[in-house]
Amino acid sequence: MPVAPEPQGEDLAAWSSALRAQFPIVAGNPGLAYLDSAATAQKPQAVLDVVQEYLTTSNANAGRGTYPWANRTTSLIEETRGRVKAFLDDPDPDTSTVHFVSGTTEGLRRVALDWLVRELREGDEIIVPFADHEANASPWLEAVGALARQGTRVTVLEMPYQSASRDYDTERLAELVSPRTRFVAVTHVHHVYGADMNVHRVRRAVGDDVVLCMDAAQSVGHLPVSMTALDVDFAVFSGHKALALPGSGVVWSRGKRGAAFAPLGWSGTPNTVGIASLGAALDWLDRAGPERIERWTVRLAARLTDGLRTLAPYEVLGCQLSLAEQSSVQQRHGIVTFRHRDIDAADLGFILFSHGFMVRADGLCQGRGGETRSSVRVSLHAYSSREEVDRLLEVLAGLA
Ligand code: PLP
Repeated sequence: MPVAPEPQGEDLAAWSSALRAQFPIVAGNPGLAYLDSAATAQKPQAVLDVVQEYLTTSNANAGRGTYPWANRTTSLIEETRGRVKAFLDDPDPDTSTVHFVSGTTEGLRRVALDWLVRELREGDEIIVPFADHEANASPWLEAVGALARQGTRVTVLEMPYQSASRDYDTERLAELVSPRTRFVAVTHVHHVYGADMNVHRVRRAVGDDVVLCMDAAQSVGHLPVSMTALDVDFAVFSGHKALALPGSGVVWSRGKRGAAFAPLGWSGTPNTVGIASLGAALDWLDRAGPERIERWTVRLAARLTDGLRTLAPYEVLGCQLSLAEQSSVQQRHGIVTFRHRDIDAADLGFILFSHGFMVRADGLCQGRGGETRSSVRVSLHAYSSREEVDRLLEVLAGLA
């Protein structure tokens, strides 16, 4: 958690600017604005240093060999497990588990195929958020398909959403839940709308016995994520979105409802250097302060949103009541997705890059219940600057 006193007001801009200098790819390209951190985040020098140091001083396989480099690598993996639990504010690290996977997509699939398939019984029901990321929809269908091939029928129900806010509709969810409901998949922060999906309300709606699996791809590294505060059973995230190397994802499981998670089969050599980078990234995030990163990125997102609302051709997607920085309707994070009335999203992406802005411009990997048209997504991190947002607004205004 934050170690330095929180700066207020303009100091937050100075804080971000000092952090920005720690990201070589950002600092080394002043003419470019990387505004695609929801796709993957840039890496601070401290993470690059740990990668270099690990590979040049201790690189070996883990859990095999008795010489010092191998022992160091084995310890590094165990220590990083503990590091992940502490970072997630795990209330009971002695009973929870952390497994390293390549990322959120693989993690959710492992929960589906290695855990859910073994837990579900004939006649059980699961609830799937089809308007979230595709990675949080297709694995559950794969699991149900595998069970069907074994002769076990499981019913898939669609997570209900509120039509205006796109938040989960927890009243209708509570009506859907029955004694047959065993499992509900949820998302912490939506990758298109940047909205906090109020997972604590989902727990209240489904009761105490249902297993909740949370896709934390867009929250870990961007805001404080507490397993003490959120009563979910699984939290899955991608290291590369949290400043670590690609291939360093996590499945955290509480082990309170049903069997603790363990991947099936022989896993082979872990991504040792990726895991080393994850430990370094979590250390960096703790020093920077996830709460401060959240406040900065929300502030920039609100600035961009407020600017876009003054420009007639743009439509910002998501809850229109929650766009202000201090909204109590539905907290939004550092993601702003929009469309231009007349310019196709892909074309707008190319135009923006011609001005040096790197944004996402396509269908955004939505599940089958999500947006059907492409859009442009701007996603921010600690190293994003107010100047970048203001310059972007100037260019967008020029296209209005
Ligand atoms: N879930 C959400 C909410 C995401 O935003 C993403 C990636 O954008 C994923 C899952 C998939 O993550 P990865 O590609 O790292 O597996």
